[in-house]
Amino acid sequence: MKLIDGKALANTIKEEIAIEVVALKEAGGKTPHLAAVLIGDDPASAVYVRNKVRACEKVGFKSTLVRKGAETTEAEVLEIVKNLNDDPDIDGFIVQLPLPKHIDEEKVNLAIDPKKDVDGFHPMNVGRMALGLPSYLPATPFGIMQMLDRYDIETSGKHCVVIGRSNIVGTPMSILLSRKAKVGNCTVTLTHSRTKNLKSETLRADIIIAAIGRPDYLTADMVKEGVVIIDVGINRVDDASRKRGYRLVGDANFEGVAPKSSFITPVPGGVGPMTITSLLMNTLKSSRKEIYG
Ligand code: NAD
Repeated sequence: MKLIDGKALANTIKEEIAIEVVALKEAGGKTPHLAAVLIGDDPASAVYVRNKVRACEKVGFKSTLVRKGAETTEAEVLEIVKNLNDDPDIDGFIVQLPLPKHIDEEKVNLAIDPKKDVDGFHPMNVGRMALGLPSYLPATPFGIMQMLDRYDIETSGKHCVVIGRSNIVGTPMSILLSRKAKVGNCTVTLTHSRTKNLKSETLRADIIIAAIGRPDYLTADMVKEGVVIIDVGINRVDDASRKRGYRLVGDANFEGVAPKSSFITPVPGGVGPMTITSLLMNTLKSSRKEIYG
């Protein structure tokens, strides 16, 4: 069993990006610039955005935080988006979700210029991804593709079972792994809450992407020897022995499945740290005009 160390890989990629930023600046190029929009006072969102801004600073990007209260109207958010679309110094921006209930998230997403949509959520980028055209990939799937690539995990001809069909993880993973590409060429089964007999599917899997949101759901009896397990789940379970009263676990029962697997991501320290790295990579691609010219 080999552990896929997402934390170490994310640091390596950040160092690579930092070196590229220095080279860009030395060549007289513009400093990549990522903006984040945070509306309301959801504490988890504030932490996510702070981490994104910090990561930008660490690699030498410029970052801008647009922070507004929960009372901000939809029209005001759309105005912020328009200003960021029009600002030539901004290479990419994200609008942190969830937005307060009175704001239509879909409307805001559609207002983002696809050229600056470094979260990869705009239908233009999702459509381009599905067609195999260059696009900004959503952060978590992009991070997973990087892991498979950097750990030289063979995907071609393999049977991959994705558990969960969300728009941010499961569905894009199923598209990416079935594409004709270096990391791809899998035969993919996309499973979800209505799947009958999930175990019969997972037992046939060479690669499992678990994105369900249920602690310890994937157990040893559900996987075959040599399987590759990418555990996306982040679940809190009560743990009185920890100072904060809980610990984080994935969707796979790590102790059970790890001995049977050839590669596995831990939780925490696996897929999670790669997410911000993807955002930085997308912003760098934008500043180099790699996707849309
Ligand atoms: P979601 O709640 O949007 O979707 C969950 C999916 O799981 C659904 O498609 C549902 O059909 C499926 N599902 C539920 N119960 C099932 C069952 N019994 N059998 C088969 N499928 C079942 O979740 P999401 O946003 O994709 O997130 C999934 C998990 O991944 C969560 O724990 C979330 O916190 C975590 N997550 C982690 C990262 C990261 O960076 N590591 C990023 C995004 C999400």
